[in-house]
Amino acid sequence: MDASMEQMASFADEDSTTADIITCLEQCGCCPRCIFRFLGEKNPSSFKCYPEAIKEALNDMKKRSIVKPESCDNTDVDMSRGDGQPCPACLGILQQYLDKPFLTKIKDYVTDAEYEFKSFLCSLTVPVCVLIRERSVLVHLREKFKAVYESVTESDIPRVKDVWKWTAGPLLGDSLGVPFDQKSNFDIAITFNYPKTFKECEIFLDFQPEVFKRRKFKRGQGELFNRANVGKALKDMTDQKLRRVFQTPPTIPKVACECESITCTREPLYIAGRYNKHNRSLSQTPWFVDGVRKSESSVEEKICDNLQKHFKYSDSKFSASGREDVDVLMLGTGRPFVVELLDPHKVTFSKAAILNIQKEINTASSEVQVRDLQIVTKEATNKLKEGEMEKTKTYLAHCWSSDVLSAEKLEEISAMTNIVLQQKTPVRVLHRRPLATRERTVYTMSAEKIDDHHFKLNLETQAGTYIKEFVHGDFGRTTPNMSTLTGTECDILQLDVLAVLLDWPEHIDDS
Ligand SMILES: [Zn+2]
Repeated sequence: MDASMEQMASFADEDSTTADIITCLEQCGCCPRCIFRFLGEKNPSSFKCYPEAIKEALNDMKKRSIVKPESCDNTDVDMSRGDGQPCPACLGILQQYLDKPFLTKIKDYVTDAEYEFKSFLCSLTVPVCVLIRERSVLVHLREKFKAVYESVTESDIPRVKDVWKWTAGPLLGDSLGVPFDQKSNFDIAITFNYPKTFKECEIFLDFQPEVFKRRKFKRGQGELFNRANVGKALKDMTDQKLRRVFQTPPTIPKVACECESITCTREPLYIAGRYNKHNRSLSQTPWFVDGVRKSESSVEEKICDNLQKHFKYSDSKFSASGREDVDVLMLGTGRPFVVELLDPHKVTFSKAAILNIQKEINTASSEVQVRDLQIVTKEATNKLKEGEMEKTKTYLAHCWSSDVLSAEKLEEISAMTNIVLQQKTPVRVLHRRPLATRERTVYTMSAEKIDDHHFKLNLETQAGTYIKEFVHGDFGRTTPNMSTLTGTECDILQLDVLAVLLDWPEHIDDS
């Protein structure tokens, strides 16, 4: 015997029993790879060979001893299946769906989708009735070979999806030119559908009505049976009961399952930066009232329209460290933001390329300017949320006072520090925020006279302080307020955010 041949796994100790098991599984109609599975073979490389080689190995096992087929690296071998019928255990997934034409179809699909990727993984959706069929084979084996299969459970049999990946992964890797890697951020998802799944699972509805409450499932009958509930129902079922309810061994299907879809997805990419807003009628995000658009564009759109062109993503989620009102400018070094790009097709950009994208955004419109644009990790984006409540903000408010404010009064105001405010939810946001009273602190203030009835107010405050309400008092809902502090009615005419003091993301020198 060739020295490279290794012992194949078998649950049976005796070679002759193994031979009988192989014959039994062949009679059930099982494909060579499923026969390997039900013998307990768990070595991925054993499954990589072509069905002919596996069959040969099985014949060898039957004839003489348990041997492993020689490794077969020749991808030119015709992988088409000799026999006509689909395997009753894997419904063809380990047969025709491991053949070259199907793998070529996947490769072509992925190539056409124009993704950039350095590795890939596959996720398979296998028809749920495969679980029933596998159990049925096991029950049959337990009946025929009690001593061998008595203690063998489903978890001892390699799963169809794993065997498929062991085999297809490296082959697809060769044709795509990048390695198969289960930790990859690029996923090729393949969904198999078996038209008779509902019919084969339907019987569960009668004796496991609690597990399969129809009303729980909203997305149609296809969702009624899933891996979790069918797996549980099978676990709760004795072999005797299973034999009464299902066919053992399972019926040989007339047709194999279908490949319902091949889809690619890439994990999200995160782009962070800081923005300035120089327009008093631009909202931060698209602004709708009762489904009617209230502003033509938004900070989000001005930024994302440009990102989309380069990253070719399917959708995006914009978030920022707080928000300013539509009529408030965002000045200074800007407000930190992050955009989550969902399913981006392009992901590799040099620092110079990112800088160019930033320039494009800044040239496209003077209303929104961006700095420190960069790709960040998902973990790093937590900084944005964590910092939201802690950060300090500075504002410039243009105010009006009913009475003339003396120089002494303005000095008195400027000397105040750490003013603790009680702010009831402002009237203007009551329609979208719950009624509550929040405590916020104005750390420092400085007032500067413009004329007898106008002054500038510089404020440094805790995040989340409602500045407009602090100035005009919001019908007494914010206390203290500028009216109570100055003893005369005050109002706010204009507001700018001068700084959002959050040191994130990293500063990037764009000179
Ligand atoms: Zn099979």
